[in-house]
Amino acid sequence: MVSVEEATSIILSNLFQPKTSKVNLNECLDKILAEPIVADRDFPPYDRATMDGIALAFDSHQKGVANFRIESVQAAGEHRKKLKSDVACIEIMTGATLPEGTDTIVPYEQIEIKNDHATINSKQVAKGQNIHLQGSDAKKDHLLLETGTVISPAEVALLASIGKTSVSVVSAPKIVIISTGNELVDIEQTPAPHQIRKSNSYALQAALAELGIDSALLHLADDQDQLKTEIKQALLDFDVLLLSGGVSKGKFDFVPSALESLGVHKLFHQVSQKPGKPMWVGKVGNKFVFALPGNPVSTFLCFHRYVKPWLLRSMGTKPITSKAILSKSFSFKGDLTYFLQVKLANIEGKLMAEPIVGGGSGDFVNLKEVDGFLELPSNKSEFSAGETFDYLAFR
Ligand code: AMP
Ligand code: MG
Repeated sequence: MVSVEEATSIILSNLFQPKTSKVNLNECLDKILAEPIVADRDFPPYDRATMDGIALAFDSHQKGVANFRIESVQAAGEHRKKLKSDVACIEIMTGATLPEGTDTIVPYEQIEIKNDHATINSKQVAKGQNIHLQGSDAKKDHLLLETGTVISPAEVALLASIGKTSVSVVSAPKIVIISTGNELVDIEQTPAPHQIRKSNSYALQAALAELGIDSALLHLADDQDQLKTEIKQALLDFDVLLLSGGVSKGKFDFVPSALESLGVHKLFHQVSQKPGKPMWVGKVGNKFVFALPGNPVSTFLCFHRYVKPWLLRSMGTKPITSKAILSKSFSFKGDLTYFLQVKLANIEGKLMAEPIVGGGSGDFVNLKEVDGFLELPSNKSEFSAGETFDYLAFR
């Protein structure tokens, strides 16, 4: 048996080595960047007008010129023009490059134009105003995005602006979810009184889908030979096996022995936690097996507490961690880390976690009432209202 801290550290020091692939820019959303992205030119690439108005030499204005002849017009998308006379100006549009010989833009709101002359009617003109200077956001060759960045629409804008039509992203591992148990039937079947539908498979598949990861489904009976044959094949076909059920001390819990007999090296079996104590984790080469206890709340907790951060770290990005404040005192006796089901409320900027205990690790109806788990450490049994703990969100 290992502690929650030991289990975490073992898992995170045994990461999967993912492959990478090139995807088109329009397919990269929510994926994880597998290459550094560098500015191909200055941002912005030229001194850019940020207002429509006139561009002029500030010195002339300071010397007292208030009426400027309009020499020409500098539109966005035109080659850079040159101011010929320093007592003249050039009409300029937002997004245009600042003409040579000018250094200040006075917007239409501060001028009056009559007979091709602009008169400044504001005393508030400052040198350099309304110009977005070349390279002021990022210089050429500057690192814009690090490897491991999750691509959101903001990153898509940067990728597009440097002309990346395709981008290298981290490929998700190939995952199969294997439910085990003779009592389980497919969800389209009507179960007999002694049977249940295999809801864990779909909960896990949905949790993976939230991470943008596809998965296959398989169901195996509590049968040593079948488990060995099918798991052997799954280890050839997939990178990660996510099992549920069959890892406890029951007479028909054959999963750990089947895995070990196939040469899967056990990293740990059993974690001092509630729920989810019987969890088994192992690896063989770059293939990983997470055998989660079958009770639905245990499966759910173990996925979010261990498998999800392991997947995110393996793919080069960091899971989001957070803390919340216990809103009602709670006691738990037992030398275990207790994952308390809680409902979260944001009260004046503070995340308050209200215990909604439910009927134990089999009561997955309760999960619809809660938002996540508060991780109550094993070194005490009384937890007071107002204390802060690690919070594991699943919504
Ligand atoms: P086990 O870990 O195999 O001892 O299973 C513990 C409990 O979880 C039993 O009541 C099982 O029926 C239930 N269970 C196991 N697998 C699933 C599943 N895929 N979906 C829903 N419940 C399950
Ligand atoms: Mg079982």
